[in-house]
Amino acid sequence: MNTLDDYLSIVGEETLQSLREKIERIKDKHIVFINSTYQGGGVAEMLNSLIPLFNISGLKVGWRIVHGSRDFFTITKKIHNGLQGKEVELSDYEKRIYYETNRRYSLFTHLDHDLVVVHDPQPLAMIKFYEKKQPWIWRMHIDLSNPNRAIWNYVKEFVTHYDEVVISNKSYSIKDFPKPQRIIYPAIDPLSLKNKELSNAEVSSILSKYEIRMDKPIISQVSRFDIWKDPLGVIEVFEEVRKDVDCQLILLGSMASDDPEGFKVLEQVEKRASQSKFREDIHILNVSSDLLVNAVQRGSTVVIQKSKREGFGLVISEALYKRTPVVASNIGGIPLQIKNGYNGFLHDPKDIQGFAKDLIKIIRDKELRDELGNNGREFVVKNFLITRLMSDWLDLFHNHLKNK
Ligand code: UDP
Repeated sequence: MNTLDDYLSIVGEETLQSLREKIERIKDKHIVFINSTYQGGGVAEMLNSLIPLFNISGLKVGWRIVHGSRDFFTITKKIHNGLQGKEVELSDYEKRIYYETNRRYSLFTHLDHDLVVVHDPQPLAMIKFYEKKQPWIWRMHIDLSNPNRAIWNYVKEFVTHYDEVVISNKSYSIKDFPKPQRIIYPAIDPLSLKNKELSNAEVSSILSKYEIRMDKPIISQVSRFDIWKDPLGVIEVFEEVRKDVDCQLILLGSMASDDPEGFKVLEQVEKRASQSKFREDIHILNVSSDLLVNAVQRGSTVVIQKSKREGFGLVISEALYKRTPVVASNIGGIPLQIKNGYNGFLHDPKDIQGFAKDLIKIIRDKELRDELGNNGREFVVKNFLITRLMSDWLDLFHNHLKNK
């Protein structure tokens, strides 16, 4: 279990001292975070580091997970897809399941805290079932820049009860919305199992357990099997690259309990890969292992992230922190992390040739790879580490609790 002191060599004393002071000012307060899963996806990843670290540092932050049936999570995935712009419709029956699940959950979730933070759409409607005694914050992690209007109008009915909305990117600001909005960028934990240092020998040994040899360049995408992450497009790009250079592809994705579409997408990906001329070089892994993610991101010559929508894309900072260059889509939160030509390359998600060209360039040019890798590490240390995330949350807490 890490304490703040363990981050000293990475972020320096000044950063830690400032965090200690910010925590001291509200150490008698009790805060609660509510989201929909403790495992799978970027939100769970962050909360798994952030919440224990707050508590061990002296600030009481509780964590609650919404209880829902498979139907509920199918509906909330639909809401998620709609908020990202997909044409979906919610029937009255589906709205009722969503609403009633939130009501039921609220019955046994007693919230006497000084501040409540609700993540994403799944527990959003809970607020309707409480006599509101404290500030409520809605933390929205997805790209809201072009939502399906009907879904947004439904969701807005709940959001308006909150005191502030937190988003991941300026361009996701909600227009004509009467409540304050604040940007907090996500962040990675450099000391977690997923990101901690590993030697080359360890990387090679972990990969060998999955029958992956490091005898030729590796391209990888680590993502839930989700159509928004475009795993089929990744295979298409890989086939272009593979025509020119001998290399292999790893698609690693575990399942998240709040994303019931995963197995269907995995099936499509496996089918597509089995039809590829280069199928011997495509490794598809449905495994839940932080150590494996770490080894794949470190063992890769280059990482691809070909998402069609991406609220932030924590996997990008994870790879950059490990000095692995990333070629990714120029959408959502990705350009916050990749500066084209500095620590990776950006392309329109439809530009298969553009992706392939830069992947080949990086694979062939070790000097370029090292330069992009070093820049990537520096950029993440400066902008996207968990200590900065703690500091941003503490600022928000102070803002709402200063007069209480
Ligand atoms: N992840 C993982 N195992 C996998 C695939 C993804 O642990 O097989 C993690 C990944 O390392 C990252 C998070 O899930 O920490 C994904 O976050 P991101 O913001 O990239 O995407 P999201 O899933 O939240 O849309």
